[in-house]
Amino acid sequence: MEQLNLLGKFEEEAKEASSVSWNLWHGCHKISPGCQHCYVYRSDSRYGRDSSKVEKTSAFDLPIRRKRGGGFVVPSGKTVYTCFTSDFFLTDADEWRTEAWDMIRQRPDLNFFFITKRIHRFRDCIPDDWGEGWDNVSIGCTVENQAMAEFRLPIFRDAPIKHKTIICEPLLEELDLQPWLGNWADQLVAGGESGKNVRPCDFDWFLSLRQQCIDAGVSFRFKQTGAYFVKDGVRYHVPRKFQHQQAKKANINYDPEGR
Ligand code: SF4
Repeated sequence: MEQLNLLGKFEEEAKEASSVSWNLWHGCHKISPGCQHCYVYRSDSRYGRDSSKVEKTSAFDLPIRRKRGGGFVVPSGKTVYTCFTSDFFLTDADEWRTEAWDMIRQRPDLNFFFITKRIHRFRDCIPDDWGEGWDNVSIGCTVENQAMAEFRLPIFRDAPIKHKTIICEPLLEELDLQPWLGNWADQLVAGGESGKNVRPCDFDWFLSLRQQCIDAGVSFRFKQTGAYFVKDGVRYHVPRKFQHQQAKKANINYDPEGR
């Protein structure tokens, strides 16, 4: 994936000196309820672009691009937010993925991170030398509702991936993740849905996820409220620029190691 309403967040994070964005292909197909208000579709519609048409971008070779002096354009140590207006495991990208893995293999000094709603394709999409996973690849798996949690989390839990993040965003209902949560996951990140006329999320759903993470010893991060946020039965509209800030103010993040 992805994606979606996460694009804005990636862009914000990419502004940090420690990260860069690598959008190697663009376009996607809606696959589950979390896709309903996909950022990519909303953004493309403003320019009359067909989001279902999947194309390589001009930045495809960014990780191995070199400056005149010979060094890489992307310096060592960066987190590379990858494939954020598509899904890395999209069928349409099957012909390009081997080359993408080759570039990732050539840059063990970078940390590649992408989010997918297609973790069921993971084993069909990894390179032959993947083994138990590569240290420089982190994967986030989206579980936006209970049905997707039940389908995707067992697959994600059992997949050989060195760094795993559970993404509950856009959170669409209260989730019971207790059957699967465990220290196989580095962290769980939760957030609401951004945009116009989107679905509200309830603070109690975040508190429930937080408690489940505490019980399982998994790091929890409340990333952003979404546009419509319900607290104590009252629905608030939270402007885009305050959604991260309000989540931070709630002060409910949890780190089992006390960081
Ligand atoms: S998988 Fe992600 S990028 Fe693709 S349609 Fe769904 S939300 Fe959009």
